[in-house]
Amino acid sequence: MRNFSFDIAAIFILLVLLFSIIFRKATTGRTNKMFLSSLFTCLISAMFEIASTILDANCKEFVEAIYFTHTGYLTFHTFQAVIYLLFVISLLDLWHKLRGRILLTIALALPYAVTFVLTVTSAFTGLVFSAENGIYTHGPLFNILYLCVVVYILATGFVVLKNRKLLSASKIMGLLMMAILCLAAAVLHMFFPQQLLENFAVSLSLFVASITVQRPEELLDTETGLYKHSAYGHDAKNSFIIGKHWHVIMLNIANYTSISSMLGYEQRVEVLKITADKIRSLNKNLGYKGKMYYLDRGRFRIVFDDKERTLAETFATLTNNELKMKFRHKGFDITLAPMIVLARCPEEIESFKSLMAFGLDFHEKNPYTGRVIQAPEIYHPDDFEVKNNINKIIERALENRSFQVYYQPIYSVEQGRFVSAEALLRLFDDEHGFISPELLITAAEKSGAIHKIGELVFEEVCKFVSSSDYKQLGLDYIEVNLSVAQCMHGDLADKILNIMREYNVSPRSINLEITETAASFSQRVMTDNLNKLLRAGIEFSLDDFGTGYSNMKRVVSLPLKIVKLDKSFVDEKENPKMWIFLQNTVKMLKDMNMEIVVEGIETKEMLDAFANLKCDFIQGYYFSKAISKNDFVNYIKDSQQKVVQNAE
Ligand code: C2E
Ligand code: MG
Ligand code: MG
Repeated sequence: MRNFSFDIAAIFILLVLLFSIIFRKATTGRTNKMFLSSLFTCLISAMFEIASTILDANCKEFVEAIYFTHTGYLTFHTFQAVIYLLFVISLLDLWHKLRGRILLTIALALPYAVTFVLTVTSAFTGLVFSAENGIYTHGPLFNILYLCVVVYILATGFVVLKNRKLLSASKIMGLLMMAILCLAAAVLHMFFPQQLLENFAVSLSLFVASITVQRPEELLDTETGLYKHSAYGHDAKNSFIIGKHWHVIMLNIANYTSISSMLGYEQRVEVLKITADKIRSLNKNLGYKGKMYYLDRGRFRIVFDDKERTLAETFATLTNNELKMKFRHKGFDITLAPMIVLARCPEEIESFKSLMAFGLDFHEKNPYTGRVIQAPEIYHPDDFEVKNNINKIIERALENRSFQVYYQPIYSVEQGRFVSAEALLRLFDDEHGFISPELLITAAEKSGAIHKIGELVFEEVCKFVSSSDYKQLGLDYIEVNLSVAQCMHGDLADKILNIMREYNVSPRSINLEITETAASFSQRVMTDNLNKLLRAGIEFSLDDFGTGYSNMKRVVSLPLKIVKLDKSFVDEKENPKMWIFLQNTVKMLKDMNMEIVVEGIETKEMLDAFANLKCDFIQGYYFSKAISKNDFVNYIKDSQQKVVQNAE
C-alpha cells in the first residue's frame, strides 16, 4: 500500500495555516482569498489522496467510490498549479490586465478546462485513468496532467519575470522556493512512487509563502488592523508602474492634531480604532470592495478598482456622513473633521510622487467644507510638478542666469508722484512658465540657495540704481526684500555693503524690507547685521505688517523708517471693526514717526480710503504690477509727463 503519512502531515500544516489566517483576520482582499483557496485546494486534494489510497488497498469492490476519489484527487491536485498562477496575479495586482481580453482569458483557462473534462470523463473513456475491477491504472493520456501543470508553472514564471520590478527580492525568493519545493517533490515521487509527497510539498510551499510573501504583520497596522502606510506606498507605486486605473478615497482628519493634544495616548488609539471600525463596517456593507489603509496621523485611504467608480463615490459620501457625527468616548464629546478627497488615478493625479505629496497635507492647505471633494477641485498637476522639481528649477535658473528683477512702483500721496519701487524676484522657467516667488523663496530658504538669489537681486538693483536711466527718474530709493534666512547669515551686512561700494550706490538709495517674523527673531547674528547696515546709513521697512506673529516690543525697538501694511488688511477693510483697527494702527504708527506704505491697492476707491487715512505711500495693481526694468523706466517717465501736462 502506498504511504499517505505525508498527506496527514500536510493536513496538519494546512490546518495550522488556516487557523493563523482566520485568527489574524487576513481573509479579505484578493491575495488573501487566493491564498485561502490554495489552502483549501491542497486540503481537499490531500483528503482525496488518502481516501483513494485506502480504497485502492482495501475496498476494490467499491468501484464507483474509487473512480470518484481518484477523479477528485486528480482534478484538485492539478488545480493547484492554476491557483498558484492566480495567486501570483493577485499578488502583483494584475487582474485588470485580463479585463476585456477574452482571448487571453480563454487561453489561460483552456489547458485546465481540457484536462478537467478528460479527467472527469475518464470513468467512461479511460483516457486519463481507469479503475476497472477496482484496479487503478494510468490511461494513455495520463501525461496530460503533467503537461497542464507545466504550462501553468511556466506561465507563472513568465508573469513573475515580466513584473519582477513590482516584487521585492525576498518575495521573489519566496515564490522561487515554492516552485522548487513542488518540483523536488515531483522528482522524488518519480523515484519513490509509493511515497505520496506532493501535497506535503505544496503545504510546505504554502507555509513558505505565509512567512515570506504573505506576511500580514509586515502589512497590517497593529492599532487599526488596516493595511499600513508601507503597504499603501507599495500598492500605489505598483499601480502607477503597471498603468492600472483605480480610485482612491483620501481621508485626512483635519482636526487630528487638536484632538490628539486633548486625549492621552490610549484614548487617541481608541478613537483611531473607532474610526477604523466605522470604515470597516461601511466596507462590509458594500461587500468589502475597497482595500483599506491607515497611514498615520489620522490619515486613511480606501482604494477601489476602476469599474467601481459609483461604489467609491457612495463609500466616500457614507464615510463622510458617518465620521462627521459627534460621538462620546470616555467622557469626551468628539467631533471629527473628516476631509475627503476622491481621485481617479492616473487621470486626475498623474504620478506616485504627486499622490503622496498631495495626500500629505491637503487638509492643511484647503478650507474644511464638510463635503466630499473631487481631486481636480483642489489638485492642480502643474503646481505639483513645479513643487516637486523646485530645487532643480532653482539650480537651473542660477546656472542659466535666468532670474530677473521686476519693479513695482510706489506712489507718494503727499507728493502726487512715484517716489520709489519694490524690487521683486521673477522667474520664467522654459518648461514650467512663471514660477511664484513665494514658492521660490520658501524652497530657496530651505535649500540655502536664498543667499545666492538674494545677492543676485541686490546686485541687479545696485546696477540699476547706478545707471543713468534710473537717475533720470528722480526716485528716492528702491526697496529690496530680505528673507529671514538671509538676515541670519553672518556675512549679510558685509556682502551688501561690498556690492553697494562696487556700484557706487549711496545707502540713501536703498531701503531693505524685513518681515515681521524676521523682526521677532532675537538672534544675535541678525541684530549685528541690522546694526552694521544701520550704521552704514541704510534704512529699513517692516514688510507684511499685521500678518505674522506680532512681537510689538521688538517692532517698537527696531529702528524702522517704514511699515508696510499687508494686503490682507486692505482686503478686509469693509469689516467695520477692521476699519477701526486700521484707523488706530495708522494713528499709532504715525505717532511713532513711522511712514506707512499700503500694499495691494487695486481700486480708486481703496486708494482714496487709505489716502484719507493719511497713509504716506500706496503700492498696488491700481497703479501697476511689478514690471521689467525697461517697462518700469518708461512707466515712470510717462507718469512724469502726465503730471507735467496736468500742471499745464
Ligand atoms: P511682498 O514683499 O509682500 O511683495 C508684495 C507682493 O504683493 C508681490 O507679490 C506683489 O506682486 C504683490 N502685490 C502688489 N500689489 C498687489 C495688488 O494690488 N494685488 C495683489 N493681488 N497683489 C499685489 P510677489 O511678487 O508674488 O512676491 C511675493 C513675495 O515673495 C513677496 O511679498 C516677498 O515676500 C517675496 N519676494 C519677492 N521677491 C523677493 C526677493 O527678491 N527676495 C526675497 N527675500 N523675497 C522676495
Ligand atoms: Mg516686500
Ligand atoms: Mg508685503
